[in-house]
Amino acid sequence: MTKKKPLNHGQLRRMRANHEKRLNRGHSQNDAPELQDSSLGQEQPAIVISRFGQHADIETASGQVVRCNIRRNIGSLVCGDKVLVRLASDTNLDEPTTVRAGIGGVVEAVHPRHSLLSRPDLYDGVKIIAANIDQILIVSSVLPSFSTQIIDRYLVAAEDTGIQPVIVLNKIDLLDDALKPEIDAALAVYEKIGYQVFKVSSHEQTGIDELQALLKDKVSVFAGQSGVGKSSLINALLPDVDLIIGDVSENSGLGQHTTTTAKLLHFPAGGDLIDSPGVREFALWHLPPERVGWCFIEFREYLGGCKFRDCKHGSDPGCALRTAVEDGHIANERFANYHKIIASLDEQRHARHFRHSVDDL
Ligand code: GDP
Ligand code: ZN
Repeated sequence: MTKKKPLNHGQLRRMRANHEKRLNRGHSQNDAPELQDSSLGQEQPAIVISRFGQHADIETASGQVVRCNIRRNIGSLVCGDKVLVRLASDTNLDEPTTVRAGIGGVVEAVHPRHSLLSRPDLYDGVKIIAANIDQILIVSSVLPSFSTQIIDRYLVAAEDTGIQPVIVLNKIDLLDDALKPEIDAALAVYEKIGYQVFKVSSHEQTGIDELQALLKDKVSVFAGQSGVGKSSLINALLPDVDLIIGDVSENSGLGQHTTTTAKLLHFPAGGDLIDSPGVREFALWHLPPERVGWCFIEFREYLGGCKFRDCKHGSDPGCALRTAVEDGHIANERFANYHKIIASLDEQRHARHFRHSVDDL
C-alpha cells in the first residue's frame, strides 16, 4: 500500500468549498422568499433552537418560533445561540410556538457565547454543535457495566469545555446488595472532590424530582455511552416529545438537514435541553497530557509541584501527584484512570494520523 500525502490547507479549503457547493445545489437561496428590509420589524432578542443549512429556527421571548434567514456577516450560528432577530411584520404574533411555513425573519446578530460544545471535523478541524450550555449530565448506569474510567473520560471532556459536569447514575432499580456498596463507594469519590451525583431510575421514576430541580433554569445536555438510558431519562423528563429529531419542517420545501441537527427543547418543569445524536456522542478526543491532568480537578493543586517540570507522574522521583495519592489526598482509582486515559489518547493519536494519511483523503 502506498501512503498518500496528507492534504495541505489549500487543498482542504478547496475540497470544503466544493463540498458546500454540492450541498447547496438542490436547494438554492431561491427556494426561500427574500425578505425586504423594509418589511422587517424592530430587533428583538431570541434564542436559536435549531440551525440547519442557511436557516435557523429561533424562539422569541414570547415563545414564538420562526424560521429565519441569517445575515451573511454572521460567521457561525448554532443551537443555543442568543441572537437579535427582526421578524417580518406580517408574522402573526397571535400564533406562538408554531413554525411558520417559509421564512419569517432574519437573524441580525449573535451575542458572545459563554460555552461551546464541539467535535472534531474532517473539513473544519472542529465543528461547533451547540452554545451556551450550563451543564453536562454524564449518564452512567449499573448495567451493562459500571466504569469509573468511562465516567472520568466524560469528566475530562466536560472540564475541558468549562461546562459544569454532573454525574447521573441510572438504573438503580437494578442495584442489588452485592453491588451497591461498591458503586456507592466509587461515587463517593466524586462527591468528595465536589461533583454532584444523582442516583436515579428512569423505569421506576426514582430521583426524577431531584433531576427536575437540577435542570430548572439551566440549559443542559445529556451525554454518556449508548445503552445507559439517556433516551429513557429524557422521556421521563420530557414526555410526549419525539426526540431524535428529524422533524425539521417537511412542509417548507427547504430540504432536510435534520438528522444530526441539535435542537433546544423546554422541560415542562423548567429548564432547557439541547439534544442531538452529535451532542450525545460528545466524547474525549485529543488533549495534551498536561490538559488531561488539569481536567482532573483535584489534581490541580499539586500540578507544578513535581520535582521535574516534564514529570509524567509515573515512577518519576519527586512526583507531587504520586505523593498526594500515597497520602490519601487523591483517590487511587482516579490516578489510575488518569494514566489509562493518557495511554489511550496516545494510541488514538497514532490511529488518527494513520487514518488521515492513508484512507480518508
Ligand atoms: P441510551 O442509549 O443511553 O439512550 O439508552 P436507552 O434509553 O435506549 O436505554 C437502554 C436500555 O436500558 C433500554 O433497554 C431501557 O429500557 C433500559 N433502561 C433505561 N433506563 C432504565 C432504568 O432505569 N432501569 C432499568 N432496569 N433499565 C433501564
Ligand atoms: Zn508528577
